[in-house]
Amino acid sequence: MIVAAPIRHIVIVGGGTAGWMAAALLSNVLPPDRLRLTLVESPDIGTVGVGEATIPPIQFFNRAVGIDEAEFMRATEGTFKLGIAFQDWVRPGHRYMHPFGQPGQAIKGVSFHAWWLRLRAAGYTVPLSDFWLAEKLADEGRFDTPSSDARSPKSTLAYAYHFDAGLYAAYLRTIAEPRGVMRVEATVAEVVLDPNDGTVSHLILTDGRRIDGDYFIDCTGFRALLIGQALGRPYEDWSHWLPANRAVAVPSARTRDPVPFTTATARSAGWQWRINLRHRTGNGYVYVADHIDDDQAAATLLANLDGQALSDPRFLRFTTGRRTQSRYKNVLAVGLSSGFLEPLESTSIHFIQHALIKFAATFPLSKDDPLSANLYNRMIGEELEQVRDFLILHYHANQRVGDPFWDRMRHMDVPDSLAEKMALFRARGCAIFPSQTLFQEPNWLAVLLGQEVEPDSYDPLADAGDLSDIRQGFDATRQIIAQTARAAPLHMDYLSRLIAPGNRRGAA
Ligand SMILES: Cc1cc2nc3c(=O)[nH]c(=O)nc-3n(C[C@H](O)[C@H](O)[C@H](O)COP(=O)(O)OP(=O)(O)OC[C@H]3O[C@@H](n4cnc5c(N)ncnc54)[C@H](O)[C@@H]3O)c2cc1C
Repeated sequence: MIVAAPIRHIVIVGGGTAGWMAAALLSNVLPPDRLRLTLVESPDIGTVGVGEATIPPIQFFNRAVGIDEAEFMRATEGTFKLGIAFQDWVRPGHRYMHPFGQPGQAIKGVSFHAWWLRLRAAGYTVPLSDFWLAEKLADEGRFDTPSSDARSPKSTLAYAYHFDAGLYAAYLRTIAEPRGVMRVEATVAEVVLDPNDGTVSHLILTDGRRIDGDYFIDCTGFRALLIGQALGRPYEDWSHWLPANRAVAVPSARTRDPVPFTTATARSAGWQWRINLRHRTGNGYVYVADHIDDDQAAATLLANLDGQALSDPRFLRFTTGRRTQSRYKNVLAVGLSSGFLEPLESTSIHFIQHALIKFAATFPLSKDDPLSANLYNRMIGEELEQVRDFLILHYHANQRVGDPFWDRMRHMDVPDSLAEKMALFRARGCAIFPSQTLFQEPNWLAVLLGQEVEPDSYDPLADAGDLSDIRQGFDATRQIIAQTARAAPLHMDYLSRLIAPGNRRGAA
């Protein structure tokens, strides 16, 4: 058996959300007596500075880091998120929500929505959203946490956060540094490769210092200093399916109590986000440069704020896609250096945590461990392709006829993997698909139905039983959901109690 030299020193390059998430997690899960962590961040190169909405798995990450939820919400100006409201996506005036959690609970092992489809085919007009507690809470500006009692309607809940990503990174720094992470404030001028094996040997900083390491985590954002510039790993461009390549962002003054959901409003060349934090509202227009110029995009954004702009609009450019090998030799790319899917379903911060957790699960045996790297790259690739398909669905299944950008999206060829999912849903209302890791049946269901992809039939197992009994059960469930929602605290009341000075909640 060959015993390879183990990893003793990991160097994280970049101090944005990805860099500090890496430092906070790895300093908690890797043995400190055997492994050193250094983080290099440039005082001259800024962070992306947007990224305010998350999805429920972030609670798992915060737990793994050992974060107290009350302290975290105080530190990041956070609010709760129960889902995303999609305004005007199907056609102007149309609205639906992608709520977290699930609608109702499976009956006799058959998905709740299959019974609902059967009832609907028999003339039942109550929308599925009436059985989705997260959506009912969001509609009423209320919030509650999930119950671990499977009999409670609250067991169907799930939630995430909105927060100020800059404050989150700063907060994670206060956790990582006391755990021994060494922070170096400097700009990397050169990445030097070992001529023998092509691994990264060391970094040269602009002040002449040298930083050696066994393993390097590239968190340098879109620059991709190590994985792209030094190691030349190619970038797979997905913009033929997801053509948005620009964003303009501006914070605005808070004008009312924050709502517990993100709003995504379709616009002529893309869509606009609105995210309510406690100290301000985050806004941005994600758009396709072929269909609108920067000035028009900024004017559209500024005309659609619900409070006074707090700064000049900030422009960002990106190409949707991924690095097929985001782990190669002794480099792991995390965050924007590894790829970018636009923020429609708030997945980027999730991809950071997913990358770190999978990295820890396939921790390299030595500097160059291609077997573990291949496994890692395959796992990350599958998750990204799933999410890519999910995002394309939002754009493709539209009825905004006569709007050039939306016509283009409706008529484009979608990946075979998405075409198959849509065909399955149309044929039998099925939203359970292979490799469904992040977005699962309820998520696909919400967006497929929301975008008016209509099933012709439903799971034949839902044909069991008497229709009037099923209807009675549904009516009773609907009432319980409505009562549970009405009894829940208002979002802001819940938040105010949580963030009261000195209050602690324990790991999220
Ligand atoms: C328009 C838009 C909206 C978004 N919205 C969301 C959202 O709602 N939810 C979500 O989850 N995500 C969102 N994201 C993504 C999210 O912002 C990023 O995933 C996240 O901020 C991680 O960025 P990063 O740390 O990889 O890169 P960056 O923030 O760009 O950080 C790069 C770091 O690398 C350092 N660096 C670069 N070069 C060098 C060098 N030579 N030497 C030393 N240091 C260097 C910089 O100083 C900086 O610290 C959005 C992104 C965009 C573009």
